[in-house]
Amino acid sequence: MILVTGGAGFIGANFVLDWLAAHDEPVVNLDKLTYAGNLHNLASLEGDARHVFVQGDIGDSALLSQLLEQHRPRAVLNFAAESHVDRSIHGPEDFIQTNVVGTFRLLEAVRGYWNALPAEDKQGFRFLHVSTDEVYGSLDAQAPAFTEDHLYEPNSPYSASKAASDHLVRAWHHTYGLPVLTTNCSNNYGPLHFPEKLIPLMIVNALAGKPLPIYGDGMQVRDWLYVKDHCSAIRRVLEAGQLGETYNVGGWNEKPNVEIVNTVCNLLDELRPRADGQSYARQITYVKDRPGHDRRYAIDARKLERELGWKPAESFETGIRKTVQWYLENPEWVAQVQSGAYRDWVQTQYASA
Ligand code: NAD
Repeated sequence: MILVTGGAGFIGANFVLDWLAAHDEPVVNLDKLTYAGNLHNLASLEGDARHVFVQGDIGDSALLSQLLEQHRPRAVLNFAAESHVDRSIHGPEDFIQTNVVGTFRLLEAVRGYWNALPAEDKQGFRFLHVSTDEVYGSLDAQAPAFTEDHLYEPNSPYSASKAASDHLVRAWHHTYGLPVLTTNCSNNYGPLHFPEKLIPLMIVNALAGKPLPIYGDGMQVRDWLYVKDHCSAIRRVLEAGQLGETYNVGGWNEKPNVEIVNTVCNLLDELRPRADGQSYARQITYVKDRPGHDRRYAIDARKLERELGWKPAESFETGIRKTVQWYLENPEWVAQVQSGAYRDWVQTQYASA
């Protein structure tokens, strides 16, 4: 049994689906179901006894202790977070509550549980914390990609809250000996991505005939990884990572935002041409830049490749094609996410824990 937090969100849901496709080991999935959590992401697991969903908050110490005692997981993987940079600029409070206080409460509950485990279970136990490359700050155009030794220089309320959570995880290892692993991954894309983030927003807006907003000059560089490759990296780190270590996860796919948007437009032109035969690129609109917008992120993932033998399966070209195809094939998922109908459905399916 493993316990996953935030498993109804974009990466967490992909992780749970991939895990149960590959293993019979059950998953307890604790998720608060914020606007970003969507149980429709896990609809294919309905009736599957290997998936136990619990609606609740990682900041709820009593609930955490009860779940740990009841299910006795051999590992806890923390995906739960407030994750959207723009939202963190407009309202940082939830980011501090979940990403900092929530991670602290989770660490404390896990520490209590781990301390009380029999010696043989204690040794095998793992706490894996899922984090971001944004904790390292912004890179100049010519600077080498972030390694695990790069200074933490977070610039947004989101990245600062994630940096704080990484430090707590590190400290719980050094101070209390908790067996932790941390992954710092670049930007993910793929199926089930909430359409407030760049790639799904562009696909959804393009198909709806809406403007495709690009911040500033569109030359901000991000390093992109297909979400299924992030999930395989997390599985590999869980299985073979050195306790107390951090692992960068990335796909060596640095691209300026404007190139990403043009790639999405080209794929849509091919797969679902506009009725007037014009390119979707006509819908691109440049908008005022985000305050404090980091210029470039780039991940050096060589430690993970060298020490644990991990490699991404998808190139950017194959991954982005799969992603666009997934959105074209799943318009009902997009409609549900946009209408909030899934939230009403959730109320009828699950009582709050
Ligand atoms: P997401 O916003 O899609 O999902 C977050 C999930 O956490 C949601 O299901 C939400 O309901 C849940 N959640 C939020 N607050 C909670 C709380 N207090 N208690 C329990 N559940 C709560 O985010 P994502 O993109 O799937 O990111 C998952 C993790 O991966 C985050 O920690 C994020 O920092 C990290 N990460 C994301 C990316 C990316 O590109 N999306 C890249 C690197 C790392």
